Amino acid sequence: MQLSRSRALFERAQRVIPGGVNSPVRAFGSVGGTPPFIAQAQGAYIEDVDGNRYIDYVGSWGPMLFGHADPDVVRAIQEAAARSPSFGAPTELEVRVAELICELVPSIEMVRLVNSGTEATMSAVRLARAYTGRPKIIKFEGHYHGHADFFLIAAGSGALTYGQPNSPGVTPGTAQDTLLARFNDLQHVEQLVEANAGEVAAIILEPVAGNMGCVPPEPGFLEGLRALCDRHGILLIFDEVMTGFRVARGGAQERYGVLPDLTTLGKVIGGGLPVGAYGGRREIMEYVAPKGPVYQAGTLSGNPLAMAAGYAVLRKIADTPDLYERLERFGAALEEGVRENLKGLGLDLYFTRVGAMATLFFTSERVVDYETARRCDTRRFARYFHAMLEEGIYLPPSQFEAFFFSTAHGERELEQTLSAQRRALARVF
Ligand code: PLP
Repeated sequence: MQLSRSRALFERAQRVIPGGVNSPVRAFGSVGGTPPFIAQAQGAYIEDVDGNRYIDYVGSWGPMLFGHADPDVVRAIQEAAARSPSFGAPTELEVRVAELICELVPSIEMVRLVNSGTEATMSAVRLARAYTGRPKIIKFEGHYHGHADFFLIAAGSGALTYGQPNSPGVTPGTAQDTLLARFNDLQHVEQLVEANAGEVAAIILEPVAGNMGCVPPEPGFLEGLRALCDRHGILLIFDEVMTGFRVARGGAQERYGVLPDLTTLGKVIGGGLPVGAYGGRREIMEYVAPKGPVYQAGTLSGNPLAMAAGYAVLRKIADTPDLYERLERFGAALEEGVRENLKGLGLDLYFTRVGAMATLFFTSERVVDYETARRCDTRRFARYFHAMLEEGIYLPPSQFEAFFFSTAHGERELEQTLSAQRRALARVF
């Protein structure tokens, strides 16, 4: 595979951008080699500056539910741009986006739009602290909620990939207000709550973890958290930046039937533009300025370009009745094919999938939390990753990231992916 242009760009980039990238995992740190610099993408395919074409299972890390350059989304952005990209004033499009989010996400009665998932989660925590008058939060090891200081404690995603789950630059004062729990271990969460009685404002989690690979909640775990929060006056925050509109129309809360007090969103709701949102029960959201005392603002929040893209996506989600059945069908066929490949090669690797997100873990152990995820054979994963890339399959360059598919992935892509995987696995084992 030829990557000479990407290599030259990567060298140039490293002179002027830390590590040559604007978000760490893109640098291929844990898998090695040169990251392809991307020129364009269409549907399920992505193409680099050297003309290599891949079937894409990154989907811009989640937003591309309908595949790349979806014509409805592109048209909406073009039309909005022609009317001026930003006014810094209220628009009808923002109202429509907010209305659709409230309609589609079961627990959201009011929502505030921001520019990223990070902004959404940090604002939701500030709000939870103000609403409860308590300082501490509980987060789970290996879960990633963006890069605000108080979340960079045993964080997943790039932080875990690079072995930097705790970042320098976070003060001990900040870190001490973040309590760490083990995912899928209700007893541990209960102990933490009891040891910090009256001090915990919120429990925040990815209801399906996606930033240590795709790790579903064990039966009863989310229900147990809900009951625990109710008993102790703690707000339950589902970070659905990744799972929102991906594991079901109404996100993980719909799929598992457990309603949080606050929800954070991002990725899909921006259709590829920078958007985040946090929302929930009206009485809590009314604490946000200017209605309430909790300050949170944004020059470009709810800007027309992002709202146009977001509205186009949300409208399609609302108007396509069999959307999630289609994604589920592709997912089930992919899952069956992966299991057949593993069986055919006599390999015992752990595969997980929830809706349109999945992970092949390089371990035979059942992965249920941070500890089990970290025991994966990341070296062999790196070889598999490169073997797949050479076969024309673009996966996330880390064992600790879920991969995603879209409605643009069909029969042809499925067959190519599975036969590529057979060859790639045979090469690395
Ligand atoms: N929360 C979750 C669950 C995420 O997966 C991410 C990003 O991957 C974030 C929050 C942060 O979102 P952003 O990268 O848009 O700041």
